[in-house]
Amino acid sequence: ETDFVDVLVIGAGASGLMCAIEAAKRGRSVRVLDHANRPGKKILMSGGGRCNFTNYTVEPENYISHNPHFCKSALKRFNQWDFLALVQRYKIPFHERLHGQLFCDDSAKDILNMLLSEGRQYGAELKISCAIQQVSRAADGGFRLQTSHGGMRCQSLVVATGGLSIPKMGATPFGYQLAEQFGIQVWPTRAGLVPLTLQPVDKEVFSALTGIAVPCEVSLQNYSFRENLLFTHRGLSGPAILQISSYWQPGEPLQINCLPDMQLFKLLKQQRGQGNKLKLKTWLAEHLPKRLLQALLPEPLLECSLVDCSDKQLQQVANHIQAWHIKPNGSEGYRTAEVTLGGVDCDALSSKTMECLQVPGLYFIGEVVDVTGWLGGYNFQWAWSSGWCAGQYV
Ligand code: FAD
Repeated sequence: ETDFVDVLVIGAGASGLMCAIEAAKRGRSVRVLDHANRPGKKILMSGGGRCNFTNYTVEPENYISHNPHFCKSALKRFNQWDFLALVQRYKIPFHERLHGQLFCDDSAKDILNMLLSEGRQYGAELKISCAIQQVSRAADGGFRLQTSHGGMRCQSLVVATGGLSIPKMGATPFGYQLAEQFGIQVWPTRAGLVPLTLQPVDKEVFSALTGIAVPCEVSLQNYSFRENLLFTHRGLSGPAILQISSYWQPGEPLQINCLPDMQLFKLLKQQRGQGNKLKLKTWLAEHLPKRLLQALLPEPLLECSLVDCSDKQLQQVANHIQAWHIKPNGSEGYRTAEVTLGGVDCDALSSKTMECLQVPGLYFIGEVVDVTGWLGGYNFQWAWSSGWCAGQYV
């Protein structure tokens, strides 16, 4: 026996819940299915438990995709101010952090409860602990699902199963597999916003720095981020590294400027000109942690007095600190990644509705789509925007 609803949404995460709310508002009968034992687990763990739910400035440049234009329409139609209005209507206390990032004051639970409450209010049904075994096209053009809760039929099927990061929280490749089942291209997936590991030789040197954070500028050829870099016992982390990790390809070196606000070479020459007798290590220690200096610069150089240094030596110091090149070994992978790069090909979808061009009635929203945001609330904003758009048409 199969029971029918207008809209089935697979995945009760950020994008799925948003889509369900909007579709239910339009009077569609909506059911959200999730195999996890509770909805919105990633919302709850996001932003260190405070959910960085959006950002005051959201631009297409904050997203990575094989089709950089695809996200524009959705981000415009339901933008950060629209989501903020919802948050304010629920009187959820929030605050701004660096770079316009908006976080809950109290708990990410506030955001999840808001979405669940909106869904309930408009009559969207939620079925958790529901495994989806099979999906097929129904004779009437809709879809037929076999699930652990029995057979179901729908007119519109929305795939909102997210990416592959944090498998412990219930991430699965379901969405990618379903896309492939329906002949939709899926770009290879890769962990993004993820700490990077070091080659064994570097690891030996830099693991002594575990716990140290330095404001840096971390760059690849075309991208650079100015944020904290954090040394961990596994390698490099902190916002600067998470951001650049989404652009990094194995084998590429990172260029790191540990004193991005200083004209170091010039300043060192000035000090020398003023007859500064301090050892380089003593003078530099006013600007950078001693242990970092020891890791970046050869010991004999650090022991030199400023007055005795040659131009070449001073240039060497500046290079080691401001153009430090390091080749990561790899990333920590999906276990600790915040997002998944790649995914369902944007060119297979309508940027207005998120519907598959070749499979009417089938929609993909959120992280499963090949749109990946920077750190800073951009991934949730994509989930809200794409979910909202699909919700207008399903
Ligand atoms: P999700 O929210 O991941 O929801 C997918 C849902 O689908 C889940 O409920 C899952 O159980 C379900 N599902 C998966 N497979 C199946 C299946 N086979 N059958 C049935 N159901 C299935 N982004 C930000 O913008 N700000 C942040 O502060 C932030 N912090 C983060 C912190 C961490 C630790 C992590 C891992 C991510 C963070 N992100 C953050 C990213 C953000 O959480 C995701 O981009 C966002 O949740 C994606 O929304 P979604 O709806 O596509 O997928």
